[in-house]
Formats: sequence, structure tokens, C-alpha cells
Amino acid sequence: MSREQGSLSINSENIFPIIKKWLYSDHDIFYRELISNGCDAITKLKKLSIMGEYEEVDGEKYRLDVIVSPENKTIKIIDNGIGMTVDEVKQYINQIAFSGAEAFLAQYKDKTNEEQIIGHFGLGFYSAFMVADRVTIDTLSYKPGSTSVHWESEGGTEFEMSEGDKETRGTEITLYLNEDSYEFSNEYRAKEVIQKYCSFMPVEIYFTNADAPIEEKKEEEKEEIIDAEVDADGNAVENSDADDTEANEEEKVEDKEPKPINNPTPLWTKHPNDCSEEEYKEFYRNVFHDFKEPLFWIHLNMDYPFNLKGILYFPKINTEYDSVEGTIKLYNNQVFIADNIKEVIPEFLMLLKGVIDCPDLPLNVSRSALQNDGFVKKISEYITKKVADKLSGMYKVEKESYEKYWDDISPFIKYGCLKDEKFRDKMKDFIIFKNLEGKYITLPDYAEANKEKANDKIYYATDLQQQSQYINMFKEAGIDALVLTHNIDQPFISQLEQQDDKLHFQRIDADLTDSFKEEVAEGEEADKLKEKTDALTELFRKVLNKEKLEVKVEKLKNENVSSMVTLSEESRRMQDMM
Ligand code: ADP
Ligand code: MG
Repeated sequence: MSREQGSLSINSENIFPIIKKWLYSDHDIFYRELISNGCDAITKLKKLSIMGEYEEVDGEKYRLDVIVSPENKTIKIIDNGIGMTVDEVKQYINQIAFSGAEAFLAQYKDKTNEEQIIGHFGLGFYSAFMVADRVTIDTLSYKPGSTSVHWESEGGTEFEMSEGDKETRGTEITLYLNEDSYEFSNEYRAKEVIQKYCSFMPVEIYFTNADAPIEEKKEEEKEEIIDAEVDADGNAVENSDADDTEANEEEKVEDKEPKPINNPTPLWTKHPNDCSEEEYKEFYRNVFHDFKEPLFWIHLNMDYPFNLKGILYFPKINTEYDSVEGTIKLYNNQVFIADNIKEVIPEFLMLLKGVIDCPDLPLNVSRSALQNDGFVKKISEYITKKVADKLSGMYKVEKESYEKYWDDISPFIKYGCLKDEKFRDKMKDFIIFKNLEGKYITLPDYAEANKEKANDKIYYATDLQQQSQYINMFKEAGIDALVLTHNIDQPFISQLEQQDDKLHFQRIDADLTDSFKEEVAEGEEADKLKEKTDALTELFRKVLNKEKLEVKVEKLKNENVSSMVTLSEESRRMQDMM
């Protein structure tokens, strides 16, 4: 092949400043782009092999290598995938900047707000130039008789191409980092980024720090062996027998076996029938670093009409005031995209913890476009439906578990009902409430049991201690009440009332029902009551400094209670709102 030189594309001088600006907040994304290109190259080769267009060598292992050199400030990303011929480099690398840039500019030139962007997809290879001054590609195509290609470019606007010397199939990308980006050749930083984006990419990724002092490792091992030969009192153990030494050596050999830093077959890619309870829990611990066990989970597995897989966990909430903050990690073909993309995942589901992998998502569009995308809406509705199905199914066939989990899941369900009409419609018959005896009942249950004494009201307590006097009175009178202690309960019951005008909730310490009052006959007693009312009205008006305050005095049936002050439900709610 003759030496060739040229200019990348007419748009290239515009594109780099924009790329840099656009991706400024997360320039670590180049790792994801280059590694996912390597994965793609391997996936393509596997496909060709299935189609019979490529014959796999016996025992062939596909792999990706990331090799950093903090001393030289370089990063190499090597795959043994499909590789590229000269023509392919010309077409995909040299021209992508052209076609890519056009699409890119058309889509983003007016959108400087980084918040808008989700995927950073479609930028791919050129993201390398965010962190590198010089990038080289060495590649050899799987096609028989191909010659290898060496490509390089400084700053990304001009390239040089020549025959290369790569002898093995695949592609090797080398980044010579720019001054601001040296950190990415640091072992810990590199691993951190790779783990963020590539933990579940479908090909094994091996990480090497080329400058890691090998000697040091040996020293450590030596020390360990020495340690092992000293007993608890610090005396050298005399006769470490041959067996021990053998075992030690075996261990060492095992230790040296390099392990991939990712998991190419995450749990969500398996069929739900093939996953054990322990696997689900372990996956939860690993991904969310939450060592409280999840309550239960939903494994989403859908092929039609769109492709969607994932696992949603209901986390354990510690106290009723625990802020519930979930994370839903979104993937596209096992490539991490972002956490909590609210355009795709209904907001109330963000209280859960989970992973969702949807290869069909159009991620290279802006967020606002995503919001109006009918397909995205369908995905979001599907997820909502699955969650509601799981919960209602549990209510129907595992009532005991449902009740057991209720305190933990009810804030989530109530929030869902407040936020999502479809979810509410599906869940409304499966909302339960704890009553004064600690039993779980539905609203129809309550109405039925209290229809004689409750005056069509639904009484509720919000604080078992503060309202204990009222609670006792209710218990004595044989009227039940619901216990609603979470701060989502107030908006939730307001919504129930709005949905059904026959429902009236009333706090247990608001206006008393007739069952607690005694009729006062005309005559002396009534006059006395009138006197008291006038006196109390004057007193309260003065103390509260409210000229027009209405005070009503009534006689209690219960002789154990000397007096109580109540505030009407309406006034109290008004006050709460203020
Ligand atoms: P995209 O991945 O979205 O197509 P990229 O800019 O990341 O865009 O890559 C452009 C093209 O270059 C790829 O579609 C592929 O054909 C080719 N390519 C990039 N990296 C590799 C690689 N490691 N092996 C083989 N081909 C590659
Ligand atoms: Mg790519």
C-alpha cells in the first residue's frame, strides 16, 4: 500500500471544539466509546462465524485488553475482533468525521445545554481526541489476504495512513494523552471509569498496568509465605511439609491467572427461570452496594414488540422517614448509558433500584426529543405495567407477603398513584391500610365494618402517641380508624377524595362524631352550656387574637374524659397547607 495523506473532512475544524465543549463534563466517556467499538468488532466476527463466513480457530477466545502506561501517558485498547481493511479504515474512520460531523452538527449545533444530551452515541471513535493529542490505529482484518493498516492523527484534523506491522487479527488503538488527561492512564482512575461504563459489556475485558512494578508483587507474595511460616507466637514453624508447599504453589498459579474486570453475562441477560434467589441478591449487592437485602424484585424480559431486559428491586426502607432514593441504571446492549433517565423510566420508579437494558432505545437524540417519542413512552408504560402486575399478583396470591412488605412498599405505591394515572388505575383495588388493631384492611373493609357508627367518614390517626386519648375513645366506642403516619399519606388521601366524592377522611381528633356527644335538652342545662360557650368564646378570641373565631361547646358522653379541644378537618388541612 502506498503512503497516503489527506485532510479528514471539511467539517472537521468545526467539530473538535464542539466535541470538547459538548462532552466537557464527562470526557471519561472515550473509554466507553473505544471499548464498545472493540466489543462491536468482536460481536461482528461472532456473527460472521454463525453465518459461516468466518471459521473460528479451535479454542478461540475473544477478548479485549486495556493497557495503561502511566509513565508514557498512553492507553492501548486492543481487540481481536473483525479488524479493518484499508478500504474500511478509509470509509469508517476517515469519512466518519465527515458524515458523523454533519449529523452531529445538524443535531447539536444549537444545543449547548449539556443537560439535553443523553447518549453521546454516534460520536464514537473521535471522542479519543478529547483526551489525546495523538491517536494511532493498527488493524488487521479477518479477511484472508488483508494487509495491516497503520493510521495516525494528531489533533484529529489530519491523518496519515500506511502499511502497518500488526500480525494478529483485530484492532489496536493507542492514545497519547494530552496534558489535561494524564489521569486516565492512572490505574485506579482508569479502572474506576471502565467499571462505571463497561462492567457488563459482553466481551471479557482484561486490564494491565504496563508500568506496575512486577518485582513488588513478588515481594508481597514472598512476605505472605514468610508470614505463613511463622506461628501465632511469632516462632518460625519448623516443618512446613511438602503438601503445604505444593498447595501454596497451586494457589500462586491460580492467582496469576488474569481475571476480566467486567462481567460479560450479567444476570439480566439470563432467563428468569435460570436465576436463583441468591444470584439476584448477590447481583443487587454488587451493583448497588446496598447490604440490606432487597424485599423482592421483578425480572423484565421482553423481546416483542421491543427488546427490553432488566431487574427492578424493591429496596428495604429503614424508617418511615428514610428518604427513599433509588437508582435505575440504563444500559444499551450492556453498555452503561446513565442513571435515572426520567424520560425513559417513570419518575416514581426511581425509588426502586434496578437495571434496564434496552437496545432499541434511540439514545443519540436530545432529552426533549426523547420525551415526545412514542416508542419511549411505550417502554415507560410497559415498565409501569409490569410493576403493577407484580404487586397486584402478590396481593392476590401472596397476601401475607404483601402485608409483610406493605410498610416498606406503600410509600412507593402511593407515590406511584399520585404521579401516574395508569399505575393508580391498576393499583387502586390493592391499597391496604393498617387499622388501630394493626390489621391490614381495604377501604371497603373499613366502610363495611364501621358503617353504623362512622357516619360515612373514614377516621384516621397520624400519631399514635399524641392522639392516644382520641384513639382510646374510638376504641371504647367501637369505631375503627386507619393509621396513616407517613408524610405521603396526606396528599394520598386528598387524591382518593378527589377521585371518589363519596370518600371523606377525617383525622381522629377533628370534629367529633355524634356517637361521642350527648344531646343536651332544652332548659337549665342548655342555658349553662350557652354560658360556657360565651365565656370560652371570649377567652379563645382574646388569647388567639381572633375577633371572629367560632367556638362550639358540646357535651361528651365519655365521663373519663374531662375536656378536649378539636379542630375541624378542613381548618386543619388548610393550616397544614400553609
Ligand atoms: P459507531 O460505533 O457509532 O459506528 P464510531 O466512530 O465509534 O461510530 O466507529 C466508526 C466505525 O469504525 C465503526 O462503525 C466501525 O466500523 C469502525 N471501527 C471503530 N473501531 C473499530 C474496531 N475496534 N474494530 C473494527 N472496526 C472499528
Ligand atoms: Mg462506536
